[in-house]
Amino acid sequence: MREEHQRITMTDFPPVQPCRHCQGGKQRLQSATLMTWLGDDLITVPDFPAWICDLCGARTYDSQALAQLSLLLNPEAGTPIQPALEFKKNLPPVKNPPPAQP
Ligand SMILES: [Zn+2]
Repeated sequence: MREEHQRITMTDFPPVQPCRHCQGGKQRLQSATLMTWLGDDLITVPDFPAWICDLCGARTYDSQALAQLSLLLNPEAGTPIQPALEFKKNLPPVKNPPPAQP
């Protein structure tokens, strides 16, 4: 009676999901360039999976991909990852790229 381990793969997601930022828009999984601060360094990650709304343009980076990225960037990889919202709160607000607010 084991639960099947959930694999972190893009193929598990439907290609389109309803937009949470507007009425009627649909977010499609596309590749976008993620820009984020790592300490004092601005790093860019090309071809990062992001959900982009075809109506309002809201961009939501894939949460599981973000989790994988933070593992790659964190020298203490292996420690539990904080939820995305907590992660954003802990970033300096001046350097933080504008988060997608609902
Ligand atoms: Zn939208």
